[in-house]
Amino acid sequence: MNILLASNNEHKKEEFSRILTGHTIILPRELGIDFDFEEEAETFTENALGKARALASLAPDGYKVLADDSGLCVDALEGLPGVRTARYGLETFGRMLGSEERNEFLLKNLVHLEKRKDRGAQFVCALAFVMDKRREFTFCEAVEGFITKESYGEGGFGYDPVFVVKEVGRTMAELSEQEKDRYSHRGKASRHLITLLGEIS
Ligand code: IMP
Repeated sequence: MNILLASNNEHKKEEFSRILTGHTIILPRELGIDFDFEEEAETFTENALGKARALASLAPDGYKVLADDSGLCVDALEGLPGVRTARYGLETFGRMLGSEERNEFLLKNLVHLEKRKDRGAQFVCALAFVMDKRREFTFCEAVEGFITKESYGEGGFGYDPVFVVKEVGRTMAELSEQEKDRYSHRGKASRHLITLLGEIS
């Protein structure tokens, strides 16, 4: 199946291409579609569905659309940055931060919390899959972990170097690609999608 991913993020494309084997993942720009979506809803699922519907209205016939809205919910920050994870630090610095800067900002905001149990967090991934106007499916998954005191590992992207997957005891950036897919929020949500694709194709 040709699946158009409602994103400009190459890392997400790479991960979905690995996980959804047998399907072709395409970014809007590869079809000459200039796609941008303001994620203004209060939940990951609403943002993912809004994003998928917006791209579906622009997509050529025959393309199914997948959208991913993901983010980090930190217990000590009452679930923030949550749906605003990509924009974390924007209000403080007046500009969008790069990944490393955002990670530093997060570590600084948690610096007073010494114990692992106080640094708990979840990585959340909502997926919306739009087959056509009347068939829309959403899934939301999460992985438990905690925020490190410094960055570890070279793999992955975004917040991966500062998020330890509780079940494995290593940061997402220290995991191999296969391990990340096995434990990550995106891997878990994608397996629900794989089940669905098996049912409907
Ligand atoms: P969005 O889903 O495009 O709004 O991006 C959400 C934010 O979460 C971005 O800042 C991403 O870098 C970050 N993010 C999403 N998934 C991951 C992941 O698997 N690892 C690390 N950071 C992620």
